[in-house]
Amino acid sequence: MSEAYEGGCLCGAVRYKAEGEPLFQMNCHCHDCQKWGGAGYAPVMAFKQAQVAYSDGIAFYESDGGSGSPIQRGFCPTCGSSVALRVGRDFAFSVVTASSLDDPARFTPAHDIFTAHAHPWDHMDPELGKHEGFLKS
Ligand SMILES: [Zn+2]
Ligand SMILES: [Zn+2]
Repeated sequence: MSEAYEGGCLCGAVRYKAEGEPLFQMNCHCHDCQKWGGAGYAPVMAFKQAQVAYSDGIAFYESDGGSGSPIQRGFCPTCGSSVALRVGRDFAFSVVTASSLDDPARFTPAHDIFTAHAHPWDHMDPELGKHEGFLKS
């Protein structure tokens, strides 16, 4: 098994550790991820819920995920960094933001999702799989 994926927020108060390999690595261009991260898209790695452990202090903002299940967006209440999401039925998946990793170079995205929401200035890598909405697996 490879080294755990560890990361955290800007101030260091919130940390997480993900064991094993991510299920999916992708760039989410949905409107909510744009607002949440303040960027064109959110680069994220999705794990099963049990693979990821968070430190104390992480806060979650819950919103409608648009697919019948709510989404919880994890952030640091001190510095405001966007670090993780809990998504899916019963929050089956824990998703961490690639830029919050201690070593963001380990992120190797394979997909662009919610491309229908992308801004005109959001230029995507043509090599990655394109999905107008959710990832169809
Ligand atoms: Zn912080
Ligand atoms: Zn999104």
